[in-house]
Amino acid sequence: MSKFVKPNIVLSACIEHKHVRFDGTMIANEFVKRLEPFVHFSLVCPETEIGLPSPREALRLVRSEKGKEIKLVSSQTGKDHTDDMVEFTNQFIEDLDANTIDGFLLKAKSPTCGINGVKVYHGTKKANVDSQKVPGLFGGTVAKRFPDYPISTERHISNFVIRDHYFISIFTMAKFRNIKADPKMRQLVNFHTDNKYLFMSFDQDDLKSLGQVVANHNKLPTKTVYEFYEKGLRKLLKIAPDKSHRVNVYTHMYGYFKGKISEKEKELFFETLNDYQNDKVPYTSVLTLLLGYAVRFDEDYLLDQTIFRPYPKDLLQVADSGKQL
Ligand code: SF4
Repeated sequence: MSKFVKPNIVLSACIEHKHVRFDGTMIANEFVKRLEPFVHFSLVCPETEIGLPSPREALRLVRSEKGKEIKLVSSQTGKDHTDDMVEFTNQFIEDLDANTIDGFLLKAKSPTCGINGVKVYHGTKKANVDSQKVPGLFGGTVAKRFPDYPISTERHISNFVIRDHYFISIFTMAKFRNIKADPKMRQLVNFHTDNKYLFMSFDQDDLKSLGQVVANHNKLPTKTVYEFYEKGLRKLLKIAPDKSHRVNVYTHMYGYFKGKISEKEKELFFETLNDYQNDKVPYTSVLTLLLGYAVRFDEDYLLDQTIFRPYPKDLLQVADSGKQL
């Protein structure tokens, strides 16, 4: 199995790194901590960047008197930081080289970094809020500017399904970035081949479209092929694999062995697949069986498939934190 490329991730600095929150603290997060050795974090604290100290007065989003605009203000004094934050965010995005970034991990619910679910207050010092929550000023703009990039929060990745999807996406995109740096058709063909079953578990039609791009019937320049492939790859990775897609892929992979394994092994496979369908075991249980067969029967093509290990094993933890998202 191939080596992993370290993803480049923009991270809210207050998560596991710097004491830059309004109260001078930082947020502990076991998943971000676990991720640290496997990625390159690029830290940003937009509130510090616009010159605010830590500790400081907490900021909040407030709906303007006329009701249309949402402002970023200090929660007690009402000092308006909107223009500074908009200016910083635009400059940050302009300076960011999109070709070097694989994803974003931002602080949930922050009026600045939140990508959704942020309260909008009806005034400074007031407790009443809009019924609808919105993105934070910085996080919302980043999410809009990079709609196809993996983006999440420290709260969301505490959920296994979301974390798994996020990790698959950032490690896949990092590997693609690596081959794109020196684009060659052979490398793209290998990348596509090794990811076949992983991509099939996302979306079979998208996999076919990517296959067409790689086949390059129109003899397009390699750089153009990579551009088309990247577009299709981001689309494919956008939505997490669902159960029916996974079952379809596992059944497909089982086809390699059905004539080689014993009746009891077949029974075990379908029992495990059924348990997965009924939420009794994680999908990794089915994959472990398939991997065992691939090792036993020396199925090199399958052994190279990233579906068995789409991100480093040490990051695999099927448990959830149990916190509400
Ligand atoms: S949420 Fe964002 S702006 Fe607030 S302290 Fe953390 S990094 Fe800074």
